[in-house]
Amino acid sequence: MNWSERLSPTVNAIPPSGIRRFFDIAADMKGVISLGVGEPDFVTPWHIRESCIYGLHKGYTSYTSNYGLLELREEIVKSLYNDYQVTYDPRQEVLVTVGVSEALDLAMRALLSPGDEVLVPEPCYVSYKSCVTLAGGVAVTVPTSIDNQFCITADQLEAYVTPRTKVLLIGYPNNPTGAVMTREALMSIAAFAQKHDLIVISDEIYAKLTYDATHTCFSSLPDMRDRTIVLNGFSKAYAMTGWRIGYAASNADFIGAMTKIHQYTMLCTPITAQVAAIEALKRGESQVTHMVTEYNQRRRLILDGFREIGLECFEPKGAFYVFPSIKSTGLTSLEFAEQLLMSEKVALVPGNAFGDSGEGFVRCSYATSTKNITEALQRIGRFVAKF
Ligand code: PLP
Repeated sequence: MNWSERLSPTVNAIPPSGIRRFFDIAADMKGVISLGVGEPDFVTPWHIRESCIYGLHKGYTSYTSNYGLLELREEIVKSLYNDYQVTYDPRQEVLVTVGVSEALDLAMRALLSPGDEVLVPEPCYVSYKSCVTLAGGVAVTVPTSIDNQFCITADQLEAYVTPRTKVLLIGYPNNPTGAVMTREALMSIAAFAQKHDLIVISDEIYAKLTYDATHTCFSSLPDMRDRTIVLNGFSKAYAMTGWRIGYAASNADFIGAMTKIHQYTMLCTPITAQVAAIEALKRGESQVTHMVTEYNQRRRLILDGFREIGLECFEPKGAFYVFPSIKSTGLTSLEFAEQLLMSEKVALVPGNAFGDSGEGFVRCSYATSTKNITEALQRIGRFVAKF
């Protein structure tokens, strides 16, 4: 019996994540330095872990409201106001989700009818296009390049709009490039969204991880609050990937629709993670600052290292990735990543895992120790010198 024939054709048609494949190969090899993982090497700060343990002692083991604990929603609203002066009603404009991952899926399913088009600037996080496809939409990719610092412009987007375009999905600070868009540049994207009456989904999971740059929350731009769904979470800034918690903030209609799906598929985000997230928002800021300072030092180290090796490297202003060009080696991204792994035991992710416009680049995460980065750079330098 060929069971795969019985699967949904939509699921059959989407490729598995190009990142996981490399993790699997690297996991079976000894002495590998991984610059592949998109997750902090820090453990969740102790006071956050402790709040969860204390919560368990107190017997916090139940379901919560579908929207999430009201106290957490209030803290989220406070932090969005403090950071970006944008206001939300904690009772109906915030939904606590199982990571930004779930929020992204919910947003797509709540908005899209079959055939609706979503503009997706590339290179982009691996799940964007698949989430659109799984929700019955059509992802229309818009390439960005190193020439425009991997940012989009309204002029460029104009070429991809059709009568079916419903949503623009953006993610800055960007994974994999580290690009951050200025407020001014985002203002022209806002005008574009208004002109074409688009809904904007803005994945701001790396908002707190910026260096020599300021993050602008898209919904804080004039007239954008109600047409924007802001997605954010705890995984990156608070080193809480395994807790699986994030949130969406938007107008009550969008959040209500997303909550309808969430209540039937997830019911609620685990209460343990919600208790910890309250602590993160209330008292986690100094730890975030500490981690950002660390990442910034590593960012400088790896950026200088790649430039010394002779690979063109765009200066990332956010997240914890660098995205050097490997075009000068004459290899494809995949060949580069495979040969580097086999000969020098350094794992990184080929740029085309993030879309066609990522071809010719590789993504390296600097969420690892200075020692690992230094050693990896030596190995990469030795490898590149062969070409
Ligand atoms: N969005 C981006 C841009 C990411 O890089 C990631 C994880 O790597 C996610 C969303 C997933 O976040 P979460 O852990 O909150 O599901």
